Amino acid sequence: MKLTMIVLIFLVNFCFAIKIADNGPNFARINFVIMGDGFTLDEQSKFDSLANLLKESLFSFTPYKQYQKFINIHRINLVSEESGTDIPSEGNYISTVLNSYRGTYGYGIREDIAEGIATDSIGSWDAVIIIINYHQDGGATRDKVCFFGIDDYSNTCRHEIGHAFANLADEYVGFTLDTNPPPYVVEPNVAVPPDTTPETIKWAKWVTGGVLWPTPNEGIYSWQVGLFDGARYTYGVYRPEFFCIMQTGGGAYCRICTEAIVLKIKDKVNTIDSPNPPSCNVGYTTEPLEFSLGLLDTENIHYIVRWYLDDSLLTDEQAHTITIVPTSFNFGTNNHTLKAIVKDSSTYWYHPGWDTVPFVKNDPRNLMQDTIVWPLIYGIAVEKATLAQAQPLFNVFSTGNAVGIRFNPQGTFRLSVHDIRGRLVDNMGSGFSRVTVQKQFRPLASGVYIVRLIAGSRVYSGKAVVLR
Ligand SMILES: [Zn+2]
Repeated sequence: MKLTMIVLIFLVNFCFAIKIADNGPNFARINFVIMGDGFTLDEQSKFDSLANLLKESLFSFTPYKQYQKFINIHRINLVSEESGTDIPSEGNYISTVLNSYRGTYGYGIREDIAEGIATDSIGSWDAVIIIINYHQDGGATRDKVCFFGIDDYSNTCRHEIGHAFANLADEYVGFTLDTNPPPYVVEPNVAVPPDTTPETIKWAKWVTGGVLWPTPNEGIYSWQVGLFDGARYTYGVYRPEFFCIMQTGGGAYCRICTEAIVLKIKDKVNTIDSPNPPSCNVGYTTEPLEFSLGLLDTENIHYIVRWYLDDSLLTDEQAHTITIVPTSFNFGTNNHTLKAIVKDSSTYWYHPGWDTVPFVKNDPRNLMQDTIVWPLIYGIAVEKATLAQAQPLFNVFSTGNAVGIRFNPQGTFRLSVHDIRGRLVDNMGSGFSRVTVQKQFRPLASGVYIVRLIAGSRVYSGKAVVLR
């Protein structure tokens, strides 16, 4: 029994994945897997440094650069018996793990083996990147697996992973006119008639006034998003920009390809990454409750945050945390919800000297927005709020000469200011509101005042100290 187990351990070709970019748990991130073919045991350190260079190359390139905290990169070391790759034209066949070859038109590989190894090692993944140990440029992609030789690996990887990860089409201008173009193309960066008008084209949200349509295939029009004839190696299929790494094999992704990659990232990764509390179901408390979003990468990504209590906008500030004071809203036996809506509105420098452009303009599935809802369940009706409990209801503010009060009435309210003997000093008015109300005190002499707020059927009062 013991012997059998030992034999099994040696027979299983188990591959360890090493996370060379660890930006969080795999299930909550995009996962790229880098492996090599034709690297012998002695050449593993060569592969390791190539994998590191590849990681640095991707993470210095828009939009992976800005969104790198959304991406894990795993390295899997595959040890081939022999070094290099098959060259069938020379009758040269060697033994490598993924059985790659270099043919007349480029590289080929057993991508099914690579897929199996990636799945066995890390479970679910988003793209496999394979460096073939052979010094000739070129690359290809099949399904979600891309592979290429060592020469010019950096540009080739950026192009090929556009296919493998974001299903981008080649934007190569064709050699012939396709008299029978496909009736529909699924890739986000190419289009065919009839959906080639400025209004109906996939990238219509990027089309601005004054664009020639179709757009001449000339470099002077490279600033604009238009309708350029030629993509997928043929005329009759259109691309959105004059230049793009999906066409040139160098340079940057065009704005449409960049958008597609960001949307693909956002489709999987929730920007509300580590909310605290993870969920909320509390009994009655008068203690302030703090909620935080734990947004993913607030340095490189720009977020617009909106907080809602029972669907009423609480504040228009950009706070990533908020404190809810249970006594500040219509407590009782009702249940409440606290909701935060987070929108990624990041921009980038597409072209030096231009204004920045948004990563995404066309977002029909609303992927740039994430929402979290915390149910707040208060089981006990509260009939008496002491002064101390009511105190946090008020937020007395002071800006310049103005002193005032902010509060969240959640219904009808009446507000007044009294001196410490209870005499009315200022009737500040009444109304109905479910959002934060801000009222400025009229000039008051220095002293202690009582601010009295009647909200619904309840009365609160708190002290305001005015110093002049
Ligand atoms: Zn493009």
